[in-house]
Amino acid sequence: MQAAAEHPGAPASAPVPSRQRYRVAIVGGGPAGCACALALAQHGVHDVLVIEAGDYTPFRIGESIPPEANRLFQALGIAQDFFAEAHAPCHGSCSWWGSDKRGYNDALMHPLGHGWHLERSRFNGFLARQARLRGTEVLLHASLAASAPADGGGFALQLALGSAAQPRQATIHADLVVDASGTRAVFARQRGSRKVETLPLVCMAMRFAVPEGSRSGLTHLEAVEHGWWYGAHLPDATLLLAFYSDAATVRAQRLQHAGRWLAWLAQAPNTAALARGAAPLAGGVQSFPAPSYCLDRLHGDGWLAIGDAASAFDPVTSQGIVKALANGMAAAGAIAGHASLGAVAQTVAHRYAQYLALRQQYYGWEQRWPAAPFWRQLHAGAEEPAV
Ligand SMILES: Cc1cc2nc3c(=O)[nH]c(=O)nc-3n(C[C@H](O)[C@H](O)[C@H](O)COP(=O)(O)OP(=O)(O)OC[C@H]3O[C@@H](n4cnc5c(N)ncnc54)[C@H](O)[C@@H]3O)c2cc1C
Repeated sequence: MQAAAEHPGAPASAPVPSRQRYRVAIVGGGPAGCACALALAQHGVHDVLVIEAGDYTPFRIGESIPPEANRLFQALGIAQDFFAEAHAPCHGSCSWWGSDKRGYNDALMHPLGHGWHLERSRFNGFLARQARLRGTEVLLHASLAASAPADGGGFALQLALGSAAQPRQATIHADLVVDASGTRAVFARQRGSRKVETLPLVCMAMRFAVPEGSRSGLTHLEAVEHGWWYGAHLPDATLLLAFYSDAATVRAQRLQHAGRWLAWLAQAPNTAALARGAAPLAGGVQSFPAPSYCLDRLHGDGWLAIGDAASAFDPVTSQGIVKALANGMAAAGAIAGHASLGAVAQTVAHRYAQYLALRQQYYGWEQRWPAAPFWRQLHAGAEEPAV
């Protein structure tokens, strides 16, 4: 078999795994999977394959990271390279939440500096490139299709390779599998894990081209009767505006239509002000599910789920990426023998419980529309996972 030689972002050339056996297979090359690979390399574990379904070229949502990310980049040994990528600094947030008065959360005095607004696909590709530079094999256009425990231990993984037009298959053996496949949680669900969900949100987003000089270095949040608005200027001179609500509201209000979405934007005066003078990009309104859950079983014999595969947080927290990076590092420590997989799973479950309390607190601060279905549902209690 030949080694996959192309770089993240390059067109597919139907790469195949370079070997048939690996000590560790990581399913998913997002922040969780790449952080795990980077940290494994730091621990001297190089016999690792990252299996990534995509190629880091399409637009990806999820771009705000807090100052804590800087500490994780330092710990992974990629901080200087990350800074050289020149994503947009985020100096804090301003919000209209709980009242129509503007509130600020300033990163000026934060000991770890400012946060960032990422160009997200480029960031994911950067992490994969860094993992490759440290000796990890990263296979793009490769999806985990099926898996089964192997005789003698570990797992047989069946991969679908290349594009739909030129499909190929390969089977590899891994002693240990890390499920970092995001909200698909593909490997964990093949092992029988199920998601214990709290109210999922739907994100309806549009992107705009903005004139130079009119960019804000803050994350903008504005609560409205049926959800909340989010705005951030991205490094590629675009403005991302997103409306978060529940599926029933989005459906009933037909917010997938740009005209309806823009009419709702006009009723959120502070967010609408951000879009003044900005031109909508082609593509219209894009819809993204934003679930909130934890798996009921986060690990088993020879496998562990991390990042969004293990637990997904409401984007209002802006914690998903730092949680994914931290989970990846913790998983690598366990694989290198510094903790058990069970201990990492306990930390994931504990952090999820903290997140549920934080989510409850955030939404509890907004009491202006107690009868509105969106706020009523979010003010109600949340289920905790049984790990
Ligand atoms: C609308 C929205 C907005 C968000 N905004 C923010 C934000 O501002 N800040 C923040 O910190 N977080 C945000 N998040 C959350 C954040 O994006 C996630 O928490 C983060 O991406 C999790 O990283 P991950 O590596 O676990 O999963 P992912 O980033 O989802 O990566 C999983 C990878 O697995 C791959 N994959 C999937 N299935 C397979 C398969 N079968 N075989 C191989 N590969 C597979 C995918 O292609 C993907 O690259 C947002 C989420 C949503 C939905």
